[in-house]
Amino acid sequence: MNSTERIYRVLNNENVDRIPFSLWRHFPGFEHTSNGLAKKIIEFQKKFDLDLIKITPSSGYFAEAFGGCFDYRKDEYGVKKGIKEFSHSSVKSYMDWNKLEILNGKILEREIDVVKIVNSEFKNEVPIFQTVPNAITLAKIIRGEAWIDDIREHPEHFKNGLKIINNAILRFCIDSIKSGANGIFLFTQIAGQNDLSKEEYNEFQINFDYQILNELKNKKVLSILHIHGLDIAFDLFSKYPVHIMNWHDQCTKPSLSEAQKIFKGVVLGGIDENNVLAIKRPEDITLQVKKAIKQTNGKRLIIGPGCTIPINTSEENIKAIKKALTL
Ligand SMILES: [Zn+2]
Repeated sequence: MNSTERIYRVLNNENVDRIPFSLWRHFPGFEHTSNGLAKKIIEFQKKFDLDLIKITPSSGYFAEAFGGCFDYRKDEYGVKKGIKEFSHSSVKSYMDWNKLEILNGKILEREIDVVKIVNSEFKNEVPIFQTVPNAITLAKIIRGEAWIDDIREHPEHFKNGLKIINNAILRFCIDSIKSGANGIFLFTQIAGQNDLSKEEYNEFQINFDYQILNELKNKKVLSILHIHGLDIAFDLFSKYPVHIMNWHDQCTKPSLSEAQKIFKGVVLGGIDENNVLAIKRPEDITLQVKKAIKQTNGKRLIIGPGCTIPINTSEENIKAIKKALTL
């Protein structure tokens, strides 16, 4: 059974030879060319034989396409994960939302080319997912702290920006699929119980995300929603038309089994990438994998981390995941 068959069987809630697993990381220093990143992803895949390849572009790539500038974060967390911070925005006032446009389309082409290269290596054997921020997450990155004032004081202008962003996201998703991606890993970084009111969530986030996800569903494209952060409003996201749900299940509610009661698809999780995978021993990782299987009866489950893994995670610890699945 290859990884593609394994993943599709889990999505259909059919028996598998073993539970699938995946994880993903950034490759700082190699992300600025398609070949550089693709080579790293291919190496990583060959080393660990993951059941699902998540292409993880340079963080903030989509905001960069909209004219933003980024550099690697120098604080401890940024270095640990290989992520970037924003230093310049093309939206300096709420009026700028109306004229937002892709200023650096080459960035998106670069990420599409990564998919092409990785796909040519693993064609149909392993499903490939392109990573894409949702519209409100991207709007927040582009605008910085003023995003929330824009929502509350200039909602129509903000929404014009969201429309422009969502169109660009959809185009990029379709281009990624045409280039060989089997699915989209859509992530939101605005998911906390108190980040927005329920009405605001509907108006500025859920409606826009559904436009993307329904379109992908019509095209029979696989989808993962990653809900980033703690104290998340899981119930709001549990109705999303996605195949797979991923959140920091080891650090915030709901547990995998609680989530399966309200979300009908597959849950991806079980591993605490920061406090266990990166720093503990292989036997501690085995224990986490076993716990995740136990609480879900091994059904509708893909073993994985709550978010990108720290870049210094040892090979031995990553290999412990698959060993625990085949014991
Ligand atoms: Zn995350």
